[in-house]
Amino acid sequence: MERIYLDYAATTPAHPRVVEAMHPYFSDKFGNPSSIHSFGQEARAATEKAREQVARLIGARSGEIVFTSGGTESDNFALEGIAFANLERGNHIIASAIEHHAITECCEFLAKRGFDITYLPVEKDGIVDPTNLEKALTDKTIMVSIMHANNELGTIQPIAEIAKIIRRRNERQKTYFHTDAVQTVGHIPLDVNELGIDLLSMSAHKLYGPKGVGALYVRKGTRMVSFLHGGSQESNRRASTENVAGIVGFGCAAEIALHDLKDEGIKLTRLRDQLIRGILDNIPDSQLNGSLTSRLPNNVNVSIKYVEGESMLLNLDMQGIAASSGSACTSGSVEPSHVLLSIGLSPEVAHGSLRFSLGRFTTEKEIKYVLDILPGIVDKLRKMSPLVVIRN
Ligand code: PLP
Repeated sequence: MERIYLDYAATTPAHPRVVEAMHPYFSDKFGNPSSIHSFGQEARAATEKAREQVARLIGARSGEIVFTSGGTESDNFALEGIAFANLERGNHIIASAIEHHAITECCEFLAKRGFDITYLPVEKDGIVDPTNLEKALTDKTIMVSIMHANNELGTIQPIAEIAKIIRRRNERQKTYFHTDAVQTVGHIPLDVNELGIDLLSMSAHKLYGPKGVGALYVRKGTRMVSFLHGGSQESNRRASTENVAGIVGFGCAAEIALHDLKDEGIKLTRLRDQLIRGILDNIPDSQLNGSLTSRLPNNVNVSIKYVEGESMLLNLDMQGIAASSGSACTSGSVEPSHVLLSIGLSPEVAHGSLRFSLGRFTTEKEIKYVLDILPGIVDKLRKMSPLVVIRN
């Protein structure tokens, strides 16, 4: 059976050119970038080239890129690094209610250590209203962290507008602005200077790079403490020997993404809209979650009433289709996602949600196959579902 992968927001396959670029750094070019001999310098040159490639993708300077182990570390580093370095100026942090757990759980960690966290709500369309930020800022706010695009809904936040509010206030007191751009870097145009961001998280495996490597953009002059201690790597900002092959792969993926960004965006938007229309037109009691207009080109998130997302996922998987649902298995029970609840969905509707995320290798034939298969699965499950009783 042919398998169809529509879960690119979870992870992407490494691009063949990325794998090829990484290969020598596991064998012939195995040096430690901190060594002064030629083996080390070869590895050092490769990491610096990758730093430039990643910086170029987001309009930054290479000295502002710190390589990390991925999006989670970048998010934790940003929050804790700013929080502990700026504690004497204030203890208030603002984040949106739909952040990834790499932000929300880090906020909870900080809350237990005396920080005061405000979660900004989102509107029904999954977008933060910047006027709510204006109201939430206090004299003690040291940091605002609002993601660029949400990983479940694909909704793109008004980052430039938010940055403007923070910058206006910075004339009186410095508040740092961090954005988790794990879902947008390499997928939509992004320039840290145009957007007015101080810190930005990225992860290579979301843009056809390898897993286990990411980066944090840190604007020059940002006051933050390090997260890992025990070495002077990454200009004293992150100890530990660099993941050279991973970093090289990330650099290569960044270069490919920059080159293909526009064409990929156009192709994916067309396929995305075809999938959304096909589902809404052919499946009764289905709805799109999140704004249609301010949305990632590859994201389709729908709720299909009176069926369980998990059951749909399993049935899709049996037909060779890989997608994702709006629930997460936490401590043995299936919890509806905090993101779907925060746009006002009831737990029942949130449980009936599916996310299809499209990517570089998605074809029109695959979209048509999903549209052929899904209505039948929903029909079958609804016939078996006790939830349908509610409908009648
Ligand atoms: N932030 C967002 C928005 C994500 O989607 C993810 C991964 O799904 C992460 C952070 C974590 O990234 P990583 O898997 O590289 O740790």
